[in-house]
Amino acid sequence: MFNAIHLEKNADNATLATVRSLDESALPTFDTGGVTVAVDYSTINYKDGLAITGKSPVVRKFPMVPGIDFAGTVTASEHADWKVGDQVVLDGWGVGESHWGGLAQQARVSGDWLVRCPASMTTYEAMAIGTAGYTAMLSVMALERQGVSAAAGEILVTGATGGVGSFAVSLLKTLGYRVVASTGKASEAAFLQALGAAEVIDRATLSSPGKPLQKERWTGVVDTVGSHTLANACAMTRYGGTVTACGLAQGMDFPVTVAPFILRGVKLIGVDSVMAPLAVRNEAWTRLARDLDRKAIERIARTVGLAAAIDVAKEILTGSVRGRVVVDVNR
Ligand code: NDP
Repeated sequence: MFNAIHLEKNADNATLATVRSLDESALPTFDTGGVTVAVDYSTINYKDGLAITGKSPVVRKFPMVPGIDFAGTVTASEHADWKVGDQVVLDGWGVGESHWGGLAQQARVSGDWLVRCPASMTTYEAMAIGTAGYTAMLSVMALERQGVSAAAGEILVTGATGGVGSFAVSLLKTLGYRVVASTGKASEAAFLQALGAAEVIDRATLSSPGKPLQKERWTGVVDTVGSHTLANACAMTRYGGTVTACGLAQGMDFPVTVAPFILRGVKLIGVDSVMAPLAVRNEAWTRLARDLDRKAIERIARTVGLAAAIDVAKEILTGSVRGRVVVDVNR
């Protein structure tokens, strides 16, 4: 038996989340390449908030064990790449949405979806970073690929106190960029400065409808919120600059004109962590092991047990959670 957060639909079609003891035989099976993992840690991401509250239909079938990421140790493997005792990390692939996820003491997934936990990282550190830190790294790699150099100018990070945002601020600072952090939490300015923000701005300056072209400021943008904020970020990006878009915390809409793209050659790069190919994942985790200032983890992450994770999932959708919440599934 193992403990897990269990999602089901009640008679009113609302999602009901409880901590349950489940039988190992209920774990999903694979014709080939299945790997069973004793989970050490999972986390609460924005998408887990949507799944656990049922606010958005991210869960494709019920009952479901949520948790889009986890880190732990292989206890059984039918996959050539993995053996008992290997420490592994999983992010995305629809786990916690259409396939039982990491908010549980045990998980069974395809071995094709796993990444080796970097040798210099504990499973705790890997999950404190989690899908948020990995997505922040993918965003930084996208800026680098477009030739956005640290010397060229300022990088805007939106949703800066969130999971993706806080790791983006820290990574960019370590890599030598000048980071401007946009936040709705004025009280967290000192937190963002400690992570490496050179300047903290009020997100209200970006979140309302704005002009198609505005005063040029950013050479690069890591946007985690979408909607008017992303549109204004594009309108303020300097000639030839790059905007990366990974999130929708403000909204799924994108009320922009073509002006920044056709008059300033601004590039908009989408960032997806869920279906990213294995080579890209391995590169991102290798870079995280090398480039992330581990002191940032202490500042960004806190830990809760399985039962408390259900409340954090509700909280994260209000935008009030700072940094990352790691879930110790054995607590
Ligand atoms: P968090 O909830 O930790 O962070 C989101 C942050 O956005 C909040 O902390 C807040 O920061 C800001 N925010 C919240 N509501 C609003 C609003 N109404 N208007 C403007 N800003 C707002 O989430 P994550 O960091 O885990 O994820 C961020 C986004 O990225 C989510 O939309 C998530 O779904 C997406 N995501 C996408 C991935 C991908 O593969 N593309 C992978 C991971 C995440 P502040 O108070 O500082 O402004």
